[in-house]
Order: sequence, then structure tokens, then C-alpha cells
Amino acid sequence: CGIFGVFNHPEASNLTYLGLYALQHRGQESCGIVSSDGNNLHSHKSMGLVADVFGNQEIFKSLPGKAAIGHVRYSTTGSSVIKNVQPIMVDYSRGSIAVAHNGNIVNAQIIKDELEAYGSIFQTTMDTEIIVHLLATSKAISLQDRLTDALSRIQGAYCLLFLTETRMVAVRDPNGFRPLCLGRLGGSYVVASESCALDLIDAEFIREIAPGEMIVVDKNGMSSFFPFKKVDPTPCIFEFVYFARPDSHIFGKNVYQVRKEQGRQLAREHRVDADIVIPIPDSGVPAALGYAEESGIPFELGLIRNHYVGRTFIEPQQAIRHFGVKIKLNPVREVLKDKRVVVIDDSIVRGTTSRKIVKMIRNAGAREVHVRISSPPTSYPCYYGIDTPNRKELISSSHSLDEIRRYITADSLGYLSEEGLMSSVGAENAGFCTACFTGGYPVKFPRLLDQDEPQ
Ligand code: SF4
Ligand code: MG
Repeated sequence: CGIFGVFNHPEASNLTYLGLYALQHRGQESCGIVSSDGNNLHSHKSMGLVADVFGNQEIFKSLPGKAAIGHVRYSTTGSSVIKNVQPIMVDYSRGSIAVAHNGNIVNAQIIKDELEAYGSIFQTTMDTEIIVHLLATSKAISLQDRLTDALSRIQGAYCLLFLTETRMVAVRDPNGFRPLCLGRLGGSYVVASESCALDLIDAEFIREIAPGEMIVVDKNGMSSFFPFKKVDPTPCIFEFVYFARPDSHIFGKNVYQVRKEQGRQLAREHRVDADIVIPIPDSGVPAALGYAEESGIPFELGLIRNHYVGRTFIEPQQAIRHFGVKIKLNPVREVLKDKRVVVIDDSIVRGTTSRKIVKMIRNAGAREVHVRISSPPTSYPCYYGIDTPNRKELISSSHSLDEIRRYITADSLGYLSEEGLMSSVGAENAGFCTACFTGGYPVKFPRLLDQDEPQ
């Protein structure tokens, strides 16, 4: 998911719309904006893409005020239905509050059972709603203390944006799994999942919000707190591999440069005699450029992408995903004919994409097809907010390298090593979460929401 918020700007909801537009790659199922006019909160949300949900300028008349937060969603917990669209907005004894969440709470079911035993009634199937109930039941007086109370109970991955009538609060979990940054636009503060959203609205990047940090913005300005027990941060390395936009700056690095270095490293580890290097667009492009540069094999565009199709993987149904590859990519025969081709992608999840693409490249006349992947085999599911399928659907959890090679019908197959991946982000940046590659989960999962139990 992606979150965006702005405080103290006359065009708050319009800017949030633009911010969400820049974060669309982080979630395409649904989106929403909640604004505050100083006395009341206002909400507009729906299933669909940002441009479709907010395409009509009239909508912004119903989102008045100088503060707003927004969310783009792809579901990790809770099904993809309208009642699960964020931000969630509730009225309770102390006023109204809205929340937008990127991440996944791993002890959600335990807390939910407890809250229900005490009479809470849940309206959605999202883990995010738990936070709202914890807030409502906290005995603390100040908003900051109530938030600390509530969030101290939850474990897992959360970047959160809260909006009340008079305040905006941003929180990043102590492990810092997901990115979150702070910017300034004249006299207003801006918070966004990725810096590409700040760029779009010409906001100045101030800094990343630190793991475990809570930032409260109100009419007096901004204050920062570290209310949680400190742990060693474990930001998600998969943000660098696939999820974040290449123009963003996250976890202290530019994503494009990291991806290109992954490609160079891949070329050092898995060299092959070939005529051209081609990416599977868009996610494979920076790594393919790095591979070509390091190997000296020319970079070509052998597959052209239809840009009006979203990220294949995020389409929620298997049937659609199946179609996806062909809808999205078409080979350039003149580039591929009679060539020995190295094709680069960022990851193999189920193997569907690679298998179809190898076939497509061969049908276009390629002589050899060598697949190179700019991350290690994805063998374990993510419980921290990336929607990887359960273990049995991950091809590399149950198949050897050669079995996968045969399944995708490649002449050869090479994955970037764990060490290679680490070196691409810089050795000084130790402490990343790499659980989907290694199985070393940095935060244990006592119990997720029932439908999402680990498989
Ligand atoms: Fe990121 Fe993988 Fe860790 Fe999930 S398991 S947080 S995708 S590195
Ligand atoms: Mg891809």
C-alpha cells in the first residue's frame, strides 16, 4: 500500500490526490482521501485507480480543509471489497479520527479476539481496524499517549498516517519495514511512503521518518517522539528489488542505483555468452541496464509494454493474472530473431511470468534464452505487507534450480545470491529483512487474521 498526507495547505485534498497518483504502483485495488476542515473530517473512497476515483474535480468540493491523508491499497489482509477501502474513519467519544496503513499486523487475530470478548464490533476484515479500537479503549488523555498505548500492543509492519480535526500524526514501526518520508511545501508538512510523491508536488525532501518515530503535526508545527522500545531496524529489502519506484529515495538510497547495481552483480555471478540483454519491463529495466554495462552485451528492448495495464501481480485473481502477461507485453521480432538472449527480471514468484515470456521470446525467433533474476529465489511468504502467495505457490520453495529452469523452459537460469543482493544495497546497510529469501523472520507472527494464517 501507499500513504500520503499533507497538513496546513489550502489545496490539501488536491495535493493528496497527486501524491496518491505518484504512489499508484503501491496499490491499485482501491484508494481514498480523508480531509479535515478544522472541525470535521470528510471522506471520499472507492474501489479503482486514483485517476478513476478522483478524476472528477467536483469531488474535491466534498473534501474541504487544509489537511488531508490518503491511501492506495492492495490487500494483504482483508479481502478486496469496498468496506475495506482506506483511510478508515471513525467517530468516538473524543471526536473523529481517520487512519491509513501500509504494512501488516502480525498479532492481529489475538488482539481482535480480545477486543471482541470485551464487546468491540468490527466493521471491516482489515487488521488496520484493530488500531482504531485500541485507540478508542485507551485510557490515556493526550492523542500522542493514546496512540502510543494502542501501538505498543501491535506487532509487525506499520507505516501509519492519522488525521483528526486538528492534527496529523505519522508513525513508522520500530523495525522500519516500510519506507516513509517527510517533506515540506512552503509552510506545510507532507508525509509520503516514497519520495517520488514529494517530487511530483514540488515538496522539499526533509528526511526519512525513522524506525520507531512518531511525528505529530498541528498548528504549532511539528514534534517528533520515539515512544517505543528500540529494536534493530529491519527495512524490507524487497522494496529495493521490486516494490518501490526507481526514482524514489528510500532507506538512505536511490532505488534505481541499487537495482542497477543488482544487475551488475548478477552479471559478475552469472555471465553467459549472448548477443543481447533485454529486460522484462518495467521492473527488470534498471537491473538489465546494469547487467549489460557489466557484461558488455548490448542492451535492447525486446519486449514492449502496454502502459495502460497495471502491475500484473497485483491483479487479485489468478484468471486475470494468467492473461496478464500477454496483455501487457509483446515481443519485437526484429530485435530477437536468431539472437542469443539474456532476459532479466527482478523476481520469480510462481514462475508464470517467466514461463510465458521465455516462450514468447522463442516464438519471436530467439536462438537461446537465458533467464537472470536480480534477487535470490523467493522461497518464503512475506507477513509484513507484501502480498506474496503462500509457500506452496512459490515455485522455488519446492523446486530445485534446474526444475525451475525446465519449468520456465530456459536454456539457463541464474539468480542473484544473497551476498550479491546485500552488497548491492551497500555493506554498511546491514540489518535488512530478507525473510522471503532466507526464512529468517525478524518479527515472529503469533497469529495473523484467520484467513491469512501462515501456510
Ligand atoms: Fe520485505 Fe521479504 Fe521481509 Fe516481506 S519478507 S518485509 S517482502 S524482505
Ligand atoms: Mg515484473
